[in-house]
Amino acid sequence: MKRLVAAAVAAVLVLFAAGFAALWFSDDVQDAMLRRVVQSNMAFNDAVLDPEALHVVLCGTGSPMPDPDRAQSCAIVYAGEHVFVVDAGLGGWDRLAAFGLPVGNITGVLITHFHSDHISGLPDIALNSWASGRREALALYGPPGVETVAAGFDLAYSLDDGYRIAHHGPDFFSEEGANFRPITVDVPDRDTGVTVFEDAGVKVTAFRVSHEPVEPAYGFRIDYKGRSVVFSGDTKEDRNVATFGAGADVIVHEALAAHMVDLLGEGLAARGDRRSKVMYDIQDYHATPVQAAKVANEAGTKLLVYTHVVPRLPNALAERVFLRGVSDIRKRGVMIGYDGLYLRLPAGSEKIETIDLR
Ligand SMILES: [Zn+2]
Ligand SMILES: [Zn+2]
Repeated sequence: MKRLVAAAVAAVLVLFAAGFAALWFSDDVQDAMLRRVVQSNMAFNDAVLDPEALHVVLCGTGSPMPDPDRAQSCAIVYAGEHVFVVDAGLGGWDRLAAFGLPVGNITGVLITHFHSDHISGLPDIALNSWASGRREALALYGPPGVETVAAGFDLAYSLDDGYRIAHHGPDFFSEEGANFRPITVDVPDRDTGVTVFEDAGVKVTAFRVSHEPVEPAYGFRIDYKGRSVVFSGDTKEDRNVATFGAGADVIVHEALAAHMVDLLGEGLAARGDRRSKVMYDIQDYHATPVQAAKVANEAGTKLLVYTHVVPRLPNALAERVFLRGVSDIRKRGVMIGYDGLYLRLPAGSEKIETIDLR
C-alpha cells in the first residue's frame, strides 16, 4: 500500500515538473497561455454594460497626496448610448484599462474644477479613446477656464499627436480626434442648476459647490432611466450638494478626515517640514466624512460613497479612524470608495448592486 501511494505521489510530481518545464521553457506553451489570458481579460466588461441600467465605476478615489492604492480623481458613467468621464486625474486611465472598461465612445469628460488632480490624466484618456476609435475632438465640459486647459493640452501634445498620425496613418488616428473640444458651462449662481447635456434619456446637470479660492467649482448630477448619481467634486460642506442631489440614488462625495490630517501636520511640523502648512490649509475647502454624511442625509440619498480620500488609509484601523463619528449620524448606506468600485443601478428598481472590479 505504501509503495502504491509513493508511486502515485511520484507520478504527480513528475507530471507537475513536466508541466512546469513546458511552461518555463517552451515559447509555444507560454504564447498559448498568454493568448488565453488576453482574451479572457478583454471579454469582460463590454457585455456587462447593458443599457437597462446606470453604471458608475470609480477609476480614481485619491487626491494629490501620494497613495499607491488610489489613482487621482476619476469616475466613468455608462448610461445607454452615452459615456461620461467625471474628472480625469493621474492614473485614472491605468485603472480603466486594468478593469477592461471601454473608452472608445466617450461622449464627454466632465471637469469639476481645474486643480491638477482632476485634469492631469486627460492626455492618457484622450489618447486611448482616440486609439479605440474616437474620430471627433473629445468634448471637455467644465467651468469657465476649460478653454485654457483644452488649448494648453492641445499645444503640449501637438508634437506627440503629429508623430502618432504620421506613424499609424490618419485613417487610424483622425486629425480631429487629436484635440479637445472645450465646452464652457456657465452656472450663473448658487441657486441655478444648468443642464449641461440631454440626449437619449441621459441628463447631466451642473451646480456650484464651495472650493474657494477655486471659483467656480462644480458638482454634477447624472440622471438616466429614473436612476441618478451625484458627484460633489471638491467642496467643503455645502448644502448645494443636498439641494441638487435631492433624492439621488448615489452621492459620490469627497472627504478629508481633518482629525487625521491634523496629526500629519503635527508630524511634519515636528520635523521642520514646510509642508505642514499645506496640511492645515487644505482643511478649509474640503468636507469631513461626518459633514459629507450630513449632506447625504439631507439629500435623502440611498448610498453615500466617499472619494478623494484624504489621508491615505493603508489598513482597516486607518479606515475606522477615518469613519469616526459617521455611524452616529448615518448608520447605513455609507462606504469608503475604492478604485474599482462598480455600482450598477438597474432601471425600474431601487437596487444598487456593488461589484468589486479589483
Ligand atoms: Zn480641488
Ligand atoms: Zn482634488
